[in-house]
Amino acid sequence: MSIVFLNDAYLPMEEAKISPMDRGFLFGDGIYEVIPSYDGQLVGFAPHIERMNNGMKEIGIHFDWSTEQWRQVANTLIEKNEGANLGIYLHVSRGTDSKRFHAYPDDVAPTVFAFAFDIPAAPVADKSVAKGYKVSTTRDLRWERCHIKSTALLGNVMHFQQGYEQGANETLLFNANNELTEASACNAYIVKDGVIATPPLDNQILPGITRFMLLDILKKEGSLKVEERVVTMDEVRNADEVWVTSSSKEVAPVIEVDGKPVGNGQVGDVWQAAQALYSAGKHNY
Ligand code: PLP
Repeated sequence: MSIVFLNDAYLPMEEAKISPMDRGFLFGDGIYEVIPSYDGQLVGFAPHIERMNNGMKEIGIHFDWSTEQWRQVANTLIEKNEGANLGIYLHVSRGTDSKRFHAYPDDVAPTVFAFAFDIPAAPVADKSVAKGYKVSTTRDLRWERCHIKSTALLGNVMHFQQGYEQGANETLLFNANNELTEASACNAYIVKDGVIATPPLDNQILPGITRFMLLDILKKEGSLKVEERVVTMDEVRNADEVWVTSSSKEVAPVIEVDGKPVGNGQVGDVWQAAQALYSAGKHNY
């Protein structure tokens, strides 16, 4: 049985109920996070909460729990739910209004929801056992505020579904200039001649916490060169390696783009080195 947190109580998932007038339900008017936990250890907790606070600020949801309050909820969910590897989902919607009206109401309390779900074990940095991802590509048709981790995910869901229906694990997205933005639920990277490149932070992509930690770890360690710059579709198609990152996947190697092998079609050496550094450094955030 799954125990969830709703507003101020822990209760079985089946008993957790919200009003259909909740603006999260009617408008996707909310902010969320997913934070991985391995053997009870949360990864990147503080930066995740900082991003959630930034998102709430940007959309005018006034809710100011401290990182420690959130940590207590996350740890309680870890305690109350079974499983060594858990994703902790945190969600704050603007709250329940009495009417359906677009303007932000100023007198409603935010709805706070959190639950834990199973995630795969953290990847091992060994290219002989790593799962190689297959991705498809498409034009990024989402909105121009992709830096906000909004619960309004239909654009991302539709892009994920496009790839899924073609048997792909993810969908790489490109803007109108054929520049890589990200994937439907991951940030994206290429490797060419040993140099890692990933699109810069702007309104076209989510500032991924895995991206932040990976780049920070790689830059501090210094053996692999990383560039934050525009990456073109041609570069993706001619890359030696392609990766996607997210909290529950860490650094995932892509071996096929639109049915064609990436590089030699095998998981690459640079991926192995980067995932090894990430595995060693991820608990320092
Ligand atoms: N980009 C999008 C659109 C996402 O939905 C996600 C994760 O959900 C990411 C990137 C990766 O972010 P993070 O590393 O914080 O999980």
